[in-house]
Order: sequence, then C-alpha cells, then structure tokens
Amino acid sequence: MPLHRTTPGGFADVYTQPLSRVPLPKYRMPEHSSDPREVYELVRSELLLDGDASQNLATFCTTWSEPEVHALMNENIDKNMIDKDEYPLTAELESRCVHIMANLWHAPHERSTIGCSTTGSSEACMLGGLALHRRWRARRREAGLPADRPNLVCGPVQVCWEKFARYFDLELRQVPLEEGATGLRPHQLKDHVDENTIGVVAILGVTFTCAYEPVADIAAALDDLQRETGLDIPIHVDAASGGFVAPFVQPDLVWDFRLPRVASINTSGHKYGLTPLGVGWVVWREAACLPDELVFWVDYLGGNMPTFALNFSRPGSEVVAQYYTMLRLGREGYRAVQQSCLDTAAHLADRLAATGRFTLLHDGRGAIPGVSYTLADPGSPFSLYDLSDTLRMRGWQVPTYPLPPAQEQTVVQRALIRHGIGRDRISLFVDDLHWALTRLTTPPDDSKRRGFHH
Ligand SMILES: *Cc1c(COP(=O)(O)O)cnc(C)c1O
Repeated sequence: MPLHRTTPGGFADVYTQPLSRVPLPKYRMPEHSSDPREVYELVRSELLLDGDASQNLATFCTTWSEPEVHALMNENIDKNMIDKDEYPLTAELESRCVHIMANLWHAPHERSTIGCSTTGSSEACMLGGLALHRRWRARRREAGLPADRPNLVCGPVQVCWEKFARYFDLELRQVPLEEGATGLRPHQLKDHVDENTIGVVAILGVTFTCAYEPVADIAAALDDLQRETGLDIPIHVDAASGGFVAPFVQPDLVWDFRLPRVASINTSGHKYGLTPLGVGWVVWREAACLPDELVFWVDYLGGNMPTFALNFSRPGSEVVAQYYTMLRLGREGYRAVQQSCLDTAAHLADRLAATGRFTLLHDGRGAIPGVSYTLADPGSPFSLYDLSDTLRMRGWQVPTYPLPPAQEQTVVQRALIRHGIGRDRISLFVDDLHWALTRLTTPPDDSKRRGFHH
C-alpha cells in the first residue's frame, strides 16, 4: 500500500495530513471523511502496537494461512451464512464439512448425521449442552419426574461451559482436579453424577494442561454406573483443539463416535482445524440426538430452511476456508502439519526439562502440540509470572495461571505450538528463555552491568 497519493498539487505524504497530526478520535466520529489510504495507514500503524500473533504461544487459534485462503475469504466476504437460500453453495459447503467431520469422528452414518458451523467452540458447546438438556428434560417429563434441577458434570473445563451453565441456568458440577492429574479421572464420576445429570463433558485437549481426558475410560465408568444404577448418561466431547489432531496423529485413540455413549462432539475450525478465526463445529451422532424443538424453520429468506445456532447473521467465508483447507491438505496434509507441530512441542519440552528448572505436566507428546509445566523448585527466587513478564520483553506471550480447584495452589505456564510456528522460531524462543532465566537469577547489580555491556 503506497504511503502517498496523487493530489492535484502533487504527492501528499500521509504523515503530513490533518488526521496524522492529532491523536485519532476515541469518543466521537469525525465530522468529515478522509482519504482511505491515509486512514488505512494510520489504523494499520496503530495496530502494529498489538503483540505479534506469531510470538503468541498462548493461543490455540490459527495465526498463519495460505494466500489462497485470504483470496477465497476476500471473494466471499459478502456471503451471509444464514442466507442459505441465496447462497446455496455456501450452505452446501457447510453441509459437506459436517459430513466429513462426522466421518473423521466415526459417526455410524456420516451421510445422515446432523451438525452445523458456529462462530467457534463456545457456541458449539452451548448447542451441544442445550441438546443434552432438552433430551434429559423430555425423558424426565415422560417418566413423570421433576426436571427443574439439571446439572452438567465435567472436569477442568474452558470458561465457555461456565458461561453455558450460568446463561442457561443449570448447575455446573466441576469435579475437583486431583493432585498430579491433568484432567478428569473416571473414578471420580460416581460421586458427582445423579439422576439430574444431563451429561458429562469430556475434554480432548484440556485448556489448562494440553492433555486429553480419557474419554473411553470415562465412557466405561458411565457404563458401570448404568449397570449399577440404571442411569444412562450421555457424553459430549469438547474436542475444541483435539478434534483435528487426534484423528490424524493418534488414530488409534478411541474418543469419538466409536464410543456409543458419545452423543455429540464440538471442535474449533479456527484452532487445529487450521482455518482463520471465526468458525467452530458441532456434530451429533445421529439426527435423533438433536431435539426438534431446537431447530427453527426460517422462511423469510426465501425457501424454508432449518437453522440451529445462537447467532443469525454470520460470515460464510470462514466455512469456505474450512472446506478449502480440508480439500487442500487432505488427511495426509493434516497428518504432516500436526505431526510436525507435535515434534516441535516434544523438542520444546525436552529443552525445558534440560534447564532443570521445570517439572513438565504435559510433555508435548500424545495429545495436543503444547507443553505445560510448573517450577521444579518450590523455593525458586522467581515465579512463573515473573518469567512470563520477562519473556514479554522479547515479545513472547506465554501465559501463567493457577490450575482449577482443587489444585489452585499450583501455578503453571503453557506454550502452544501451531501451524506456522517452526523449529527455528522455537530455537529462538529457547534462547530467549535462557536469557530470561539468567536475568531472573542474577542479582540486580550484575544484570545491570550485563545490560550495559550489550
Ligand atoms: C478454545 C476452547 C473452547 C472455546 O472455543 P472458541 O472456539 O474459542 O469459542 C472451548 N473448549 C475448549 C477445550 C477450548 O480449548
């Protein structure tokens, strides 16, 4: 984008124009219009002060895409996902994506399964949760039993489940994290589920630790419970990050619709689905798992179309990008991308362990490509929060946070490896980590002198 434009008087530099000579408006829309290139440059330059997305090791979300993805999204920027009658091909691509995911996750009949795209996993989780609730309520009412105190049982879940429970007014029973655990342990379930439990959420890629919860063992524990008590409790798998990792690089791990108890699965297309931000998915095992009462028939867009979603208008371009990415990479391509991320995560885990300063909670192997760790020395002169701050001086964003109850006294740090973060970048990160550790463990006077010599 050129920094200057042609005016009747010749070339005008953006930074000589009126808008560049004042702080940009914060509370009131300007009275007059401005040149688009000038405004573009000023807004772009303001946004440069954001952190660099490729140094953001905190996010699971896509930060790199091929130019073809940018082109397709740009060309479809005006398509509204809800206008299924006007944009039948966009709707068709959404439907293909749902069936492909149903197949990837071993649905018994991928051709007739049901699901939809969403803005992300948060919306997808809420739709999955709502379906569980309505099915439970219908069963209770049929049996003449009270249906006013539903609960949902889970381990250390992402905040969207807490939102779901609060917004839709049901009890979230979060099973406390056991010492040394990275997620829900199946033996804990029997103390938390009861006749009012609408379902159990199992997580493929726990946000706090990166580990997978053992979905098959959770299902087996619920099978035992059913034998003992008669309670038949379905599972929703929150595979926000694992749904596009496990099928490719851990194909023998049984976590999906191969388990009859799994009623629905969500994933974030914009995480390891490798699509730019703005798309998630929820797929039900079979159409009967989605109660009719949640499906709305909309006829004012032309045609009469079923919709189930919390949003109405929503961009169609993300769905187009998801379909492109699945065709472009194929199973082979996803396998290669995820394996290379896993290799880099394992490499980072080894380098972290080699410093002798960290205890790994998740070593980058066998789950999503990331590492989580605590400080090995309880008497360490610095905290992980200090380490996050120091790494930030070199542009790296690495989050530090306490584990959920009952392990909240344990503070962990987490680094995620994604598509677009190569081995070289991680080598540079490790160099900066060593620099940060030296800085944090060197008495202040010495570090000042060192800084001076630089
Ligand atoms: C990221 C995440 C979510 C929320 O997904 P969004 O796509 O950000 O809305 C839910 N659950 C888990 C396990 C996640 O990792």
